[in-house]
Amino acid sequence: MHKAMFWSSKADKKVQCHLCPRECIIDVGKTGFCGVRQNSGGSLYSLVYAKPVSIAIDPIEKKPLFHFLPGTRTLSIATVGCNLACKHCQNWEISQYPRLRGKIAGEDKTPEQIVEMAVKLGVPSISWTYTEPTVFYEFFYDTAKLAKKRGIKQVWVSNGFTSIEPIKKAKGLIDAVNIDWKGSNKFYRDVCSAWREPIKKALLTYKEIGAWIEITNLIIPTLNDSTKDIEQMCKWVAENLGKGTPIHFSAYYPCYKMDKPPTPVATLEKAAAIAEKHLDFVYIGNTFHDKNHTFCPKCHKMLIERLGNSAQKTELVDGKCPGCGEKIPGVFRQKV
Ligand code: SF4
Repeated sequence: MHKAMFWSSKADKKVQCHLCPRECIIDVGKTGFCGVRQNSGGSLYSLVYAKPVSIAIDPIEKKPLFHFLPGTRTLSIATVGCNLACKHCQNWEISQYPRLRGKIAGEDKTPEQIVEMAVKLGVPSISWTYTEPTVFYEFFYDTAKLAKKRGIKQVWVSNGFTSIEPIKKAKGLIDAVNIDWKGSNKFYRDVCSAWREPIKKALLTYKEIGAWIEITNLIIPTLNDSTKDIEQMCKWVAENLGKGTPIHFSAYYPCYKMDKPPTPVATLEKAAAIAEKHLDFVYIGNTFHDKNHTFCPKCHKMLIERLGNSAQKTELVDGKCPGCGEKIPGVFRQKV
């Protein structure tokens, strides 16, 4: 067990965790909602520090991040656990593992070993992904400090349900995030056992600390596919994060406790058409589609050609469109 960050003591040796907006008050011997932070003798400990359950190498496009080091590979790391309980979770076997099984799974790998692995593989980034990086913050934090010294960037693929203080503390350590915007507040309540307001605050804080931001909206037919919800989300993103913020509309497939039919491509296209009124970079994911490529918003030249999760070709020159010179927002330092 590793001493946790972001908690305070309460009466009767209880502790309160401040890592995410759930603010769990935890009795001695118990864990919080995520199942990976335990009160032992009046102190809070992380049960998943240096215990990755999943280690893989992915194209950065799989996160999805389309404007962050396109065409590179990333070392993907996850532990078990999540602070949400989405009925449609695509990785529920590991995200819900502690809650369903009442125990932790994973192999022993220290932050030093993770960084050495990334160096040996020659990847420019480590992605904290698949489950929810918020709940294994301490593991990320120690690894990120070491990785920074070796010039390796850090990516969070997150539900955004993270408190402000931990995000601020990660200033200079988180280089890019892809945040899930799941739907209306009702959707968060009914489907995810959470609420939406903290996601907006987290996004504004990521902007404040200078992390590159992309948004994913996984659309489930009849639950979060209304024109009103999609329009509101896109307007908020444009007004608060900027119209150059990429958004990825992603197809849902039946999983875990959700048995709605898969998302039709036409639904994703309708969402993309709404988004294009507000945002410059609108993508359709989880399915092969023309809206997988990056086009210049000014002269419409194709700038990055993709096949699924793989960037095939980039025309960008120093992050600019070679046709009209338009600067394309993102982090573009490596050739594809
Ligand atoms: S990180 Fe876990 S223990 Fe902490 S407040 Fe969130 S759900 Fe509760």
